[in-house]
Amino acid sequence: MSRYTRRALLAGTGLLGLPALSAALQTAASPYRRPKLKITDVRTAEIRGHGYQLHVRVYTDQGIYGHGEGTDAVLGGVALVQGFRRFLIGQDPLNVDLLWERIRTGGIFAGAQAGQYVAALSALEIALWDLAGKAVGLPVYQLLGGKMRDRIRLYCDSQTNSPDDPQAQEKIQRIKDAGFTAVKIDVDDARDPMRWDAVNWTASNAELDNMLGKVAFMRQSLDKRTDLAVDMHGRHDMSTAKRFAREVEPFKLLFLEEPVPAENFDAMRDVRESTSTPICAGENVYLRHGFRPYLERRAVDIIMPDIQKCGGLLEARKIADMAHTYYVPVAPHCVVSPIGTMASCHVCAAVPNFLVLEWHWMPRLALWKSFVKEGEIIDKGFIAVPDRPGLGVEMNEEAARQAQVPGRPWFEPSRDKV
Ligand code: MG
Repeated sequence: MSRYTRRALLAGTGLLGLPALSAALQTAASPYRRPKLKITDVRTAEIRGHGYQLHVRVYTDQGIYGHGEGTDAVLGGVALVQGFRRFLIGQDPLNVDLLWERIRTGGIFAGAQAGQYVAALSALEIALWDLAGKAVGLPVYQLLGGKMRDRIRLYCDSQTNSPDDPQAQEKIQRIKDAGFTAVKIDVDDARDPMRWDAVNWTASNAELDNMLGKVAFMRQSLDKRTDLAVDMHGRHDMSTAKRFAREVEPFKLLFLEEPVPAENFDAMRDVRESTSTPICAGENVYLRHGFRPYLERRAVDIIMPDIQKCGGLLEARKIADMAHTYYVPVAPHCVVSPIGTMASCHVCAAVPNFLVLEWHWMPRLALWKSFVKEGEIIDKGFIAVPDRPGLGVEMNEEAARQAQVPGRPWFEPSRDKV
């Protein structure tokens, strides 16, 4: 470098030095004005909706907060979320994936591979995305890569499956009137009178007939356009799973869910290879690491991560993307309130291989419809993805508190110092 050039540069940079000058020029030239926020508190509330749900709010020094929800595996999650605060207080909430990674890897000796730890982290992560969206004025789907569809197709958990249920026709009519295009029923019944053992789950011939009878009843009760899925809840043994999956083939199910327990993906693959019925599993699987062997071993036709417990919105997107490389669609498990359901919708809107999303609140319709200030979010079996910043729904606290777990904190400020 010539003396002339060096002198000119030194004159231009002064005491700043080149990296600082470059940063200053970029700041002056870029229209991007990133909000500078700091996390000030993380608070929780607990609800009994369909099962137990943990709600998490992340607060900042500029008055905006984010709201997330976790489920099923979050019993005990309040203490975990309070423990996460040491990774969060004073941090920039917009670095969502960095905070997630620190908390995840910070807990590898504390159970951060699955279960409660990951479910509590999922609730927190969803709150961070809601907060990030509100901070930059964008819907969460935009932060996840943009949307591929404007509305999300739901399947309705039927709450009935048999002509022996005196309310069966009424319940089925309600599903039809609501406009759902897909329905799911349960066929595992611990009280089936044809069961010979209270513990062993090898179905007798008569029990298998009862299970098939439920499918036949629901199939003939729905029109041809409505898809039917069946859940076995991962209880039966291999021989029962294979027999049922084969015998139910003529009904052309949308999918058969967890025909054997979730933890043995080789067993799931054996069932899958034995039948043309599409096999679906994943609501009890966590993180990309949990889904990797399911996909690599070709154990399933469809995956069903529970987005409120598998690791959160971005982790669900990563799982869906991994599945897409195997041409496997995603039908997320979902039992949470309209807040968590809408969070799931943002992921479902953003991934190419979305199939259908669960909805499980028919028995709690009044609570569902009043849970968020936006009111009912379902229209004829679909949810329109909102363009409002963040998740696009806000809790109606008066209604939600009707389902509060008695005696538990309700977003009260944390007293413990980090
Ligand atoms: Mg299930």
